[in-house]
Amino acid sequence: MNNENIIIVGAGAAGLAAAIGCARAGQKITLLEQNNKIGKKILVSGNGKCNIDNRYINLNRFHSQNPDFIAKVLESYDFAVVEKFFTSLGLELVEGKEGKMFPMSLQAFSVVELLEYEARKIGVEIVCECAVTSVSKQGDTFTLETTLGTKTCTQLVLTSGSPAAPQLGGSNSGYAFATKLGHTLVPRHPSLVQLCSQESWVKGCAGVKVAGLVKLYANGEYITEKKGDLLFTNYGISGLAILDLSREVSTRLANFDYCELSLDLMPEYSKEKLTNLLLARIQKESEKPIGLWLQGILNKKLIAIILEQSKSRVKLEKELGRKEINKLVHTIKNLKLSVNDTKGFKGAEVATGGIDTSEVNPQTMESKLVPNLFFAGEVLDVDGDRGGFNFHWAWVTGLRVGK
Ligand SMILES: Cc1cc2nc3c(=O)[nH]c(=O)nc-3n(C[C@H](O)[C@H](O)[C@H](O)COP(=O)(O)OP(=O)(O)OC[C@H]3O[C@@H](n4cnc5c(N)ncnc54)[C@H](O)[C@@H]3O)c2cc1C
Repeated sequence: MNNENIIIVGAGAAGLAAAIGCARAGQKITLLEQNNKIGKKILVSGNGKCNIDNRYINLNRFHSQNPDFIAKVLESYDFAVVEKFFTSLGLELVEGKEGKMFPMSLQAFSVVELLEYEARKIGVEIVCECAVTSVSKQGDTFTLETTLGTKTCTQLVLTSGSPAAPQLGGSNSGYAFATKLGHTLVPRHPSLVQLCSQESWVKGCAGVKVAGLVKLYANGEYITEKKGDLLFTNYGISGLAILDLSREVSTRLANFDYCELSLDLMPEYSKEKLTNLLLARIQKESEKPIGLWLQGILNKKLIAIILEQSKSRVKLEKELGRKEINKLVHTIKNLKLSVNDTKGFKGAEVATGGIDTSEVNPQTMESKLVPNLFFAGEVLDVDGDRGGFNFHWAWVTGLRVGK
């Protein structure tokens, strides 16, 4: 049996930051990872470029049942702290759109390789293919059952993440360990995830991408809207605007709300501007079929559904009048799509919910219920918007543990 000083469970972003922080403070650290390599989510993030953080850290980009906790953690733990940390590893950062930060190499693996080099250099023992299966505490000692045998420690850090992306190591195990030790869980739902629809027409539009605006209605009531890419797929809809909206949809579907999206396929055109554009395009004696006429402004795959939803009866360009144009404009700017599910944790980048943060000290990340038990990263009831905010949370909570 091994008697370690500090064991950290999970070598993702939070675990690596915590391990380096603790080891720099002179602690003996063992970092256990169930996967065959560390940082799998970092490696695939930002399409392999790793959107490592965001320059504009703001409380309203993070979500939790307990926003006060986030405010306290982020106090003096802004982007500059993360930048300093990466500079200390020899990693330079560059800025993309909307404050998104990336490694200068634009290669996610440079982030993982530099983190690993630093951790090993300062004595962190990294053990891969070691899944922790149970945790208990007797007196001052934590006992961990793992696939590589029993391990004990006097301080335990849970950085085992959320169930999002199980194919990369996403797991519920941290929640199971924490609840067994007396902690409470806030319900988890997939977020930053694609949405499913049972409406058959979407399949016919699969592959079509438009720069649009999506509004969410739950039980007929307007909830919120997002602008950006909309990508039709054979299961429903994806794209950046959909990912940004998905947290709200996921939570509402779990509450059995009826969710409907209203898609504006031409948000840059006001109703009036689009009406005028269409009216100006009508040629009086033209025998051109309406479908072909609409191809002058819209993707062909979307036209059949626009005509169907607008209930247009005219067949030829010359038959178009203001009434028909109004119907078409209304549908192009309010295409309805009901949503019945999400692609689940498998498709999600993050999970909402997690360990109730009212039971954790935001200064030290130590449990208020179990002395010497610490948490960092997504295992906590905090998730962020797309754009580097989730990694920010992982880095700063990990560094706070180290401190
Ligand atoms: C496809 C994808 C792209 C993303 N892109 C971005 C992005 O560009 N920017 C951004 O900010 N966020 C992004 N995210 C979200 C970000 O990856 C997470 O928020 C972040 O990784 C959370 O860090 P963590 O350390 O808390 O958890 P994780 O990174 O999930 O690490 C937890 C680790 O614990 C291990 N583990 C779990 N249970 C056990 C156990 N019982 N025993 C041993 N090990 C265990 C897991 O294998 C895993 O390696 C993306 C996520 C995905 C899935």
